Parts: sequence; C-alpha cells; structure tokens
Amino acid sequence: MKEKLVMVGNGMAGMKVIEELLDIAPEKYEITIFGAEPYGNYNRIMLSPLLAGEKTVDDIMLNPIEWYAEHGITLHAGKQIVEIDRVGRRVIAADGTNAKYDRLLLATGSDPFIIPVPGKDLPGVLSYRDIHDVNRMLEASKQHKKAVVIGGGLLGLEAAYGLMKQGMDVSVVHLMDTLLERQLDKTAGQMLQQSLEERGMRF
Ligand SMILES: Cc1cc2nc3c(=O)[nH]c(=O)nc-3n(C[C@H](O)[C@H](O)[C@H](O)COP(=O)(O)OP(=O)(O)OC[C@H]3O[C@@H](n4cnc5c(N)ncnc54)[C@H](O)[C@@H]3O)c2cc1C
Repeated sequence: MKEKLVMVGNGMAGMKVIEELLDIAPEKYEITIFGAEPYGNYNRIMLSPLLAGEKTVDDIMLNPIEWYAEHGITLHAGKQIVEIDRVGRRVIAADGTNAKYDRLLLATGSDPFIIPVPGKDLPGVLSYRDIHDVNRMLEASKQHKKAVVIGGGLLGLEAAYGLMKQGMDVSVVHLMDTLLERQLDKTAGQMLQQSLEERGMRF
C-alpha cells in the first residue's frame, strides 16, 4: 500500500517538491494535489510578460493539467482547501471535495500585502499575484484609460510596464525617494526612473 500524500497549493515551490519526489521515490506515494487556481502549475514569474501581451497562458505553463494524469497524480484544480481535519487526517475543500492523507504538505505561497487605506476594497483596486489578477487588469485596460500603480518595486514596475503596453496612461506612486531602492542605489534608481519617463511612465 502506498502512503497517501496530499499537497495543498499547486504552485511553484510545491510542484518542485513533487517533481523531486517523482525522481527519487516514484513508488512511495499516491499523490493528490489541491490548487485554488483553476490551472495546472504555471510560472508565476512570467505573469508580467502575460500582462504585457508578450506571452500566453499556455506559454507560461510548467505542468499543464494533462501532466498530472500522466504521472498518476490526482489534481483538484480550482478547489480551495478550507479545513484540515487533523484527527480524521483529511482535507476539505470549499465545495466539499475531500481527501485523506498520511502526509500533508502545505505549499500555499503568500498573499499580496494590501495597504490598509480607505477605498482598498473598491471595484478597480487590484493586487498582483496570479492569472486572475492579470485577467482583471487586461479587462480594465480595455475599458479604462488611466492606471495608478502603488509601489515602485519590481512587481509594481512590471505591472506598470504591462499596463502601459496595453495602452494605459500609467502613474506609479512610490513611498521612497528612488525606485527599486532594495536593489539599486540612488543614482541607478534615478537613471531607471528617467529611462521609464522617456517611455511615457509617470511618477
Ligand atoms: C508578477 C510576479 C513576478 C515575480 N517575479 C519573480 C522573480 O523574478 N524572481 C523570483 O524569485 N520570484 C518572483 N516572484 C515570486 C515567485 O513567483 C514566488 O516566490 C513563488 O511563486 C512562490 O512559490 P510558492 O509555491 O510558495 O507559492 P505560489 O506560486 O503562490 O503557489 C501557491 C499556490 O497555492 C494556492 N493556494 C493558496 N491557498 C490555498 C488553499 N487554501 N487551497 C488550495 N490552494 C491554495 C494558491 O492559489 C497558489 O496557486 C514573482 C511573483 C509575482 C506575482
């Protein structure tokens, strides 16, 4: 009898573990994966080229849905786990789908930090973490002209660039004096800003 391994979170870190396990101990586990997103495992780092229209969803897939069946893995895509029954050794999804485990691996990533200000829940205020967020930004870019990006770090600037490529007039609001202050010194941050301003981005 194989042990039952259940993984919650169908993202990049968790799937790397599964691939390693298949390499070193292919017969050890019967594997079931729950992912809140309705996709296979995709390369989250490539969301910005997706937003900019330089890649498609298919281009950024690392393990498409068929891959799981081909490797004998049960994937529940689009099912968010809302309860862990530790006594019964079972996980339960929002729609009632459940699975028993001998080993449980939680690889649920993180949520974007949303600044706690009035209006943060208004329609049109989005975070940037997954394909759903990119789709909402693409949708907004078809209906609206102006975008404000809060945060001049890597993701903020990537989002701003993508929105600009979608034809939006983009302003970036950043807390610090210069952009990418964790990666660049002042001079380099100013040079980056100047170069982005020349392409039409506002700060
Ligand atoms: C736009 C963007 C660009 C990035 N660029 C870089 C980069 O250039 N370099 C770099 O090193 N990193 C980059 N990152 C960060 C990198 O993508 C993350 O560090 C990495 O994806 C983390 O992997 P993870 O598996 O821990 O989490 P994730 O990839 O977030 O996967 C976690 C998964 O778990 C699912 N989940 C959460 N809760 C539940 C639940 N209750 N039930 C079921 N499923 C659940 C989530 O929906 C998600 O699909 C970027 C991130 C973004 C958003």
